[in-house]
Amino acid sequence: MVWFSCEEHIDYIIEDVIDQYQVAPLLEPFIPSSDEKTVHCHWCKRTPVYQLMTQQEEKHAHTNHCDR
Ligand SMILES: [Zn+2]
Repeated sequence: MVWFSCEEHIDYIIEDVIDQYQVAPLLEPFIPSSDEKTVHCHWCKRTPVYQLMTQQEEKHAHTNHCDR
């Protein structure tokens, strides 16, 4: 999961993520890429300055394949 946040709402969004996923998100400065992908602050829809990520743990990756 990835969220974006402006400078103002970073605390809110971190709390929100912790609340929902019980993990602290990884915080990185958001650098707009050359991609035309438009992203917004999760709260106010303004231009983000931070990017938050969590590692998804939906599945238990069992790479224990049976040999036929
Ligand atoms: Zn905001």
